[in-house]
Amino acid sequence: MLLKLTILPGDGIGPEVTEQAVFVLQAIADAFGHRLQLQQKNIGGAALAAVEDPLPADTIQACLSSSAVLLGAVGSPAFDHYPNHLRPEAGLLRLRRELGAYANLRPAICFPALEDCSPLRADLVRGTDIMIVRELLGGLYFGEPRSISGSAGSRVATNTMTYGEQAIARIARIAFDLAAKRRNKVLSVDKANVLECSRLWREVVIRCAKDYPGVQLSHMYVDSAAMSLVQRPKDFDVVLTENMFGDILSDQAGGVVGSLGLLASASIGGPVGLYEPVHGSAPDIAGKGIANPLGAILSAALLLRHSFQLEREAACIENAVSSVLNQGARTTDLARAGQTPVSASAMGRNVVEAVKKSVGK
Ligand code: NAD
Repeated sequence: MLLKLTILPGDGIGPEVTEQAVFVLQAIADAFGHRLQLQQKNIGGAALAAVEDPLPADTIQACLSSSAVLLGAVGSPAFDHYPNHLRPEAGLLRLRRELGAYANLRPAICFPALEDCSPLRADLVRGTDIMIVRELLGGLYFGEPRSISGSAGSRVATNTMTYGEQAIARIARIAFDLAAKRRNKVLSVDKANVLECSRLWREVVIRCAKDYPGVQLSHMYVDSAAMSLVQRPKDFDVVLTENMFGDILSDQAGGVVGSLGLLASASIGGPVGLYEPVHGSAPDIAGKGIANPLGAILSAALLLRHSFQLEREAACIENAVSSVLNQGARTTDLARAGQTPVSASAMGRNVVEAVKKSVGK
């Protein structure tokens, strides 16, 4: 199969981790007989520095003409004083919209070798395997009107939460489809005791569930879900929720299973999927070669699964990551006292070797 990808390394550790993810993709392509066709483009601070636009037209064009996009991270202190629309992060928000990526999937999996990286007791996190399905293009982050008005001392800030039935139904279907391939459980998280948006959300989700008789649907208020997530994380399968609740809960789920550097994400639903690690550009460690590339590498696995339906290849990457962790390889963020950390490139090489070994090459 031809794997036509746009690579957007971005800022900070973005280029360091995407480089390793591309090595792993190349190893997978070689092992399984696919052809990788890559084009690399600028986004975020790198694009601002080059052409004063965090999402240049040729980047959008390249992404839209690819089958999938792999992104590193955006954000740089050099642009923190820029107006909102000219900050690196604005480029990423625009890209998600341009790609019509309304469904953000964030798996939070506890790798057996990393049980001790969780702030929770090992017996609580062992076996945790959660898929958060977050609506990405609606809710408070996009709703209009939005403003800060009035004069100093009596200013008023307004944001608007809006959800339509179609936007709810399409994300619900993504969650039910995923659950049907996993443990057949969807937990829909809302705040239906207080918010009209949540009441409509719950009504539409219940209606959609009728098309998935094999999937068990339950509901929880977001405050209660946040508590349960740390009390009994392994009970969760697919969590379906709106934009802001999903933003918060998915970071919390990431915290439950360990380092930010491990977490991958997929933003799908439009014609071209966008895959990126959950972490940012980590300016504090950029350029040192010590970033954990596993979030980017696991994002490449999601890319193969969701944009190309290459399940065997995706699982091969995930098993390779699990196996290098079992063998004791740890980047600085994962290393415990007495463990010597490996560099980003050594971790990437280990995964490539594990991929080759698993397919007998
Ligand atoms: P961050 O995720 O960049 O870093 C938080 C902490 O985690 C830092 O101490 C960092 O060193 C560490 N860390 C992150 N990724 C790591 C990895 N792969 N390996 C090892 N350690 C890792 O978040 P931040 O510091 O809040 O933000 C830095 C910049 O990144 C800001 O400009 C922010 O806007 C941007 N950001 C971008 C994205 C994105 O591109 N999707 C997401 C979050 C933040």
